[in-house]
Amino acid sequence: MRKENKAVIPLELTGLGSAEGDSKSWQVTVDIPAAIGTENMAVRAGQSLELDLLAVAISEGVSLSVSGSGRAEGQCVRCLTPVEKSLEFSLTRIYYYPDVLARLLNEVSDDSSVYDELDDAYQVRSDSRIDLEPLLIDAIVPQIPYSVLCTPDCLGLCPECGISLAAAEEDHHHEVIDSRWSALAGIFDEQGKKKE
Ligand SMILES: [Zn+2]
Ligand SMILES: [Zn+2]
Repeated sequence: MRKENKAVIPLELTGLGSAEGDSKSWQVTVDIPAAIGTENMAVRAGQSLELDLLAVAISEGVSLSVSGSGRAEGQCVRCLTPVEKSLEFSLTRIYYYPDVLARLLNEVSDDSSVYDELDDAYQVRSDSRIDLEPLLIDAIVPQIPYSVLCTPDCLGLCPECGISLAAAEEDHHHEVIDSRWSALAGIFDEQGKKKE
């Protein structure tokens, strides 16, 4: 195995038979230990997520389906107003038995892209524990909007004074004379004077 990773969100698979097709569905509530999301929006650490789980024993390991909902928090990338979004997510992934995973990794060792896909985070440990975190990350992150905005046409902030342009008066502006223009204005003035 490439790395020794500890289960961040441990989940017991006890009660699931090992015969192919045996299944178990149940609900769990987990407090996520670290934020899941992007730089601009994430499900915060400490949030409790109620999850519906379905585990099915297959020959290579366990196929685990998760579905649930949560609340992501972030801020508008243009005006920095806090933005919240309700998320619904669901995903199914295979957690491999360690010997199956070792064999698969061995078979694909010269194809690094497949190697990375078979990340050893997705494995059933010998104590029939798994780590739920990678599944939650893969389920939640695609639901986070790529561009976080308070409203689709957010005007952002005034580049001069930083107030929100949505809250400002309609003709909010500043008398700014660009120093390059003021220099030119001086030249024109000079030329105007010479002609006189
Ligand atoms: Zn905004
Ligand atoms: Zn301004």
